[in-house]
Order: sequence, then structure tokens, then C-alpha cells
Amino acid sequence: MPFKQLGLPDALVRASQVMGYTQPTPIQLRAIPAVLGGRDLIGSAQTGTGKTAAFAMPILARLGAHRPGPPRVLVLEPTRELAAQVAASFRELGRFTNLRAAVIHGGVGYGSQRAALRAGADILIATTGRLLDFLQEKEITLSGLEVLVLDEVDRMLDMGFINDVRRITSQCPPQRQTLFFSATVPPEIEAVARFALRNPERVEIDRARAVTETITHNLYPVLHEQKFELLLALLNRTDFKSVIIFSRTKHGADRIARKLKAAGHPAATLHANRSQNQRTEALAGFKSGRHDVLVATDIAARGIDVSGVSHVIIFDVPEKPDDYVHRIGRTGRAEAEGDAFMLVTPEESGDVRDIERFIGARIERLALDGFPYKNGAPPHIDTSRPLQNPRRKNGMHQQQHGGGQGGGGGQGGLAKGTRGQNQSRRQSGRPHGGGHPTHHPKGKPGAHWRRASTSTR
Ligand code: AMP
Repeated sequence: MPFKQLGLPDALVRASQVMGYTQPTPIQLRAIPAVLGGRDLIGSAQTGTGKTAAFAMPILARLGAHRPGPPRVLVLEPTRELAAQVAASFRELGRFTNLRAAVIHGGVGYGSQRAALRAGADILIATTGRLLDFLQEKEITLSGLEVLVLDEVDRMLDMGFINDVRRITSQCPPQRQTLFFSATVPPEIEAVARFALRNPERVEIDRARAVTETITHNLYPVLHEQKFELLLALLNRTDFKSVIIFSRTKHGADRIARKLKAAGHPAATLHANRSQNQRTEALAGFKSGRHDVLVATDIAARGIDVSGVSHVIIFDVPEKPDDYVHRIGRTGRAEAEGDAFMLVTPEESGDVRDIERFIGARIERLALDGFPYKNGAPPHIDTSRPLQNPRRKNGMHQQQHGGGQGGGGGQGGLAKGTRGQNQSRRQSGRPHGGGHPTHHPKGKPGAHWRRASTSTR
């Protein structure tokens, strides 16, 4: 069904065409008519599903034209990057209207944000802390609000912002439309939804557990002391356009970036300890292709939409299984194909077991051909026994001694392993075995490093 049939005005249908959207995504099909009809909405959907346009298009349609006065729409976002990204989507989708969007978030000066507010914005996209500052200063009033969007509420809960969300929500007029998006809706979030919404329509796009079909994802068992070496080898042998490497911690991200730089592979870093300027620069550089490697923590990278990310490498196994789905979802966005690799030590087997249960599939184990595995082969990652997660049990890493060999043991050619859930479509983006350069889709191993600056995004 084309966008026009969803009841959107011409200005938005044209904008969707300019953006190359041919068909509405499932969440757009369900949410757009509901929001146009003035209903409150709970959307359980994660980023990558077309969620932003699912709320931005009908909101822009409802607003019609710019009106001087206080903002009529407030969108709350958990991170600065998401706020900036969502503001950009509103501007792009509203390009054939005269509606104005302003973004306010911490980490930068107040001056230009204050000026944008004073110039008049129909739509305000904000993170909670800076918004509360402006509300306290009485620089903003929410008295004219018609639509409130609470986006990525599960992430706001994780980040400890939920009380701020409640405080802001209680300052909004009760007669309003509220749209609420969260990848998962556990009881704590359900409570916020009850507080904020009236008789909502529920739209569930069950992707939280599902790995996008266009993503090939694999697991590389390795001993802890060889993890970085394997990361380097994978990077060198993978023909990627752009890659995001996920670290569990900010310090870990810095350490990886430092070591990559020392190995001649400079990378941008994105995490909460960096200044806003550094974060903006890192992301802009990555989006433009100036950096082709971005090392990030989950929090900073959650929801970030960078088209054309060809590979995701998970350096530390996430503790929360849904973070696995989010991380690998940074590639393969909007139907593009992508590859994701996770480096796993035996100590991390428990977390892998949780992930495999969560997604309902075994992740294929691979060995990198020619890699000098200590003991001659990759270690065994045993996820078969229902053990308690060692990390959670003791609050510290605990070595497990599994027998057998993981993956194909590096016995020539591409690594062999069992089939995971999305393995049937494409293998070309995998690191290729050193002895089989013909398997390389674009040239000889490592050539992409030198070609990287020409990558298009
Ligand atoms: P989101 O879930 O909002 O983060 O969107 C993920 C990506 O999908 C963004 O790059 C959007 O521009 C893109 N997108 C959104 N809607 C569509 C659509 N109907 N067709 C194709 N791409 C879309």
C-alpha cells in the first residue's frame, strides 16, 4: 500500500518519495492511521523498523503549518545523538511544509538552543536533563502541547531517566495525544504507560527478539588473551564498507580504539565520557565515510541510524540478550544486508546461552582460517547445559573448561560451523580464509583499508 492511501497529505507523500521510501514499513502501516486519528499509541518496536517516520509523518500531517507560540509537539529521547537524529528526520520529512523543529540536549552551550526556542518551534525534540533546565528557567512552556512522544522508553528506564520523564509528563496538558515507544514493555514501563496514556492503541512489531533477516551473524570463539589479535585479523580480512565495534564499557572502547590506532587502523569512538563535540564529530565522521571504524558503547550507539554499516563486531558479549539484537541491528538497516560477528571467550558462554535462548536459535560458530589459535583451535563455547550465567552468579568472570572444538577448527577454507538462523542468504561479507583470496568479494585481503576513504554513504 502506498503512503498516500494511509491518509497522509501530499507534502508528506512527496517527502517520503524524496527519501526513497516506496512502501510503508509494518509499523508505519499500523501507526500512521492511528496517530492521524488522534489515538494514543503504545508501539513496541525497536529502531530500524521505520519507527521514527511512523510517528513523525502523522504528527507533521496533524500540525499542518507553522504557528507562532509555544511548541505543540514534544519528543523525548534518551540520548543526544538520538535527539539530533530524530530532529533531522522531522526536518527531512517536513521539507515541503513550513513547520519548524528545534532540538535541545545537554553537552553543548545553551545559547543557540535558547535562540531556536525563542524563534519559535512547532516541534521540540529533547533529552530530559536540558529540557528540565529550560523548563525551570521558564524558557519553555509545555502549556500548548498537543502531542507528546516518549521514545525508547526502555532505554530511558535503563539510563535512570524515568523519573524525569514522569516530571515532564506531569507538566504537559492532560488533553493531549501521547505516543509511547519501547522495544520491550516490562511491568515498570507498563506503569509509566498507564500514567501517561489514555486508552492507547497497541502496535507490536515483534522484532525485539528477531534478528533482521538480512543480517548474517556469527560467533568467533577465542581465548581472552587473543581477543584483540582476532579482532585485528577479522578487520584485516573482512571486506567492509564501514564497521561498528561494540565494547561493553567506555574504558574498553577507548582501549580498543587506542590499540587499533597503534596497529595502524584509526577509529572514531562514541561513548558517554566524550564531550558532545567529540561525539558529534565521531558520528558525523563515521556517517560521512571519513572514519570507517567506529568503536562504541551500547548506550551511545543505541538507535543510531547510519545507513550502509556493512559490519558489526561485538567485542564483548552483551549481558542483556536484547542488546545483542540491538547491536547487530546497527547493520542491515532498512532491508540492507549486513554481517555481524561476536567474539566470545569461554567465560562469556553463559551470556551467549541467554542470547541464543532469547532469539530462539543457535549462533553459528566460526573459526578464522590461518589464525594462530593458541592450543591450535578455537576454544569451545558450551551453551548446551543450563548453567547459571557465571558472570551473574559470582559477579566476576569465571573460567569454564569445555571440551571439544568450536566451529570448524580452522581446517582450511572459510570457517565451518553449524547453521544459524540467517545463514542461508549470503556469505560474501565474512572474513575469508587467507588461503582463498578468490572468495574475497572485492579484492585482496586488507584492500578495503586503503580503499576505505572512497566508501560511499
Ligand atoms: P528508524 O526505525 O526510524 O530508526 O528507521 C530506520 C531507517 O529506515 C531509517 O534510515 C529510515 O530513513 C528508514 N526508513 C523508514 N521508513 C522507511 C520506509 N518506508 N522505506 C524505506 N526506508 C525507511
